Amino acid sequence: MSLLDSAIVRLLPAVPKPVVQRFSARYIAGATLADAVAVVRDLNAGGKMATVDVLGEEITHEEETRAIAQAYRDVLAATDKASLDANVSVKLTALSLGLSYELCRENLLDVVGAAAGYGNFVRIDMEDATTTDETLRLYRELREDGHDNVGVVLQARLKRTLDDIAALADLRPSVRICKGIYLEPAAIAFTDDEAIRVNFLRCLDALLDAGSYVGIATHDEWLIGESLARVSQHGLAREQYELQMLLGVREERRDELVAEGHRLRVYVPYGEQWYEYSVRRLQENPAMAGTIARATAGRMLRLGR
Ligand SMILES: Cc1cc2nc3c(=O)[nH]c(=O)nc-3n(C[C@H](O)[C@H](O)[C@H](O)COP(=O)(O)OP(=O)(O)OC[C@H]3O[C@@H](n4cnc5c(N)ncnc54)[C@H](O)[C@@H]3O)c2cc1C
Repeated sequence: MSLLDSAIVRLLPAVPKPVVQRFSARYIAGATLADAVAVVRDLNAGGKMATVDVLGEEITHEEETRAIAQAYRDVLAATDKASLDANVSVKLTALSLGLSYELCRENLLDVVGAAAGYGNFVRIDMEDATTTDETLRLYRELREDGHDNVGVVLQARLKRTLDDIAALADLRPSVRICKGIYLEPAAIAFTDDEAIRVNFLRCLDALLDAGSYVGIATHDEWLIGESLARVSQHGLAREQYELQMLLGVREERRDELVAEGHRLRVYVPYGEQWYEYSVRRLQENPAMAGTIARATAGRMLRLGR
């Protein structure tokens, strides 16, 4: 990304919401559960699995967190009814991590219990580094209480992640490994792209050595190749790992990987609270900065007329 593009990307929060919405539509299934079900049905028809995310961040009221848990129960019921191949991904802050650990535990148990009733699975997304300790603590508590239909996400960007893998090893956790979207200070995170990639592979090696089921979540071509080489070195069968990508990203590559025989899961966010997620996706899209700058400038010129 050029310096100008990086600068524009940092200014994205100042871009008018309608512009953000227009350019981020591809990353979001829609506003309603029916929209998400339709997208998942299409993905399944194309040989892909899905994981559904109910959008909701920076929630400040207890009732809202219960409503999110209810929305997840609705997702699980709808996917079961329609016989879809989809699990769910939850953000603990949406289930009240920032408000109350106990309520968050309650909400999460609610979702995990509902998923278990359908023979389904819950993936706990990982958020910024202020939430890592509590997220891993809650994950461990659930697993120690016998809830095995739950997995977690670890971020290669964080320097602590290899230690976290070692600390979790006794649980043989199901882990989604990703680079990590939240920019963290150099004291706790790798800030250089190459260092993040190297750590991604170190973490993947450690997880595979520990016998974890791994969701390899990246669109980075080099990392996909290196990861698949490791999967093959470990002699893993098709059902013993999966690739994961975000809705709206590298769709052609996604199809090729499925055609090559890999299982691939697409992250499908839906809901009214599309803004924060959309900004993060646009900030990562290397081709988007210039486009948005032009669209914003055009809009301002029209408004100025
Ligand atoms: C299924 C899934 C779940 C995730 N869950 C989490 C999580 O719980 N916590 C967390 O911190 N992070 C999560 N992430 C985000 C992840 O950490 C990265 O921020 C994100 O995947 C981009 O990193 P990358 O490995 O794809 O590499 P990048 O170097 O960012 O991207 C590689 C290439 O992919 C394409 N690309 C990437 N992003 C876009 C985009 N938005 N639009 C268009 N093209 C794009 C470009 O061609 C780019 O060159 C998740 C990612 C995936 C795929």
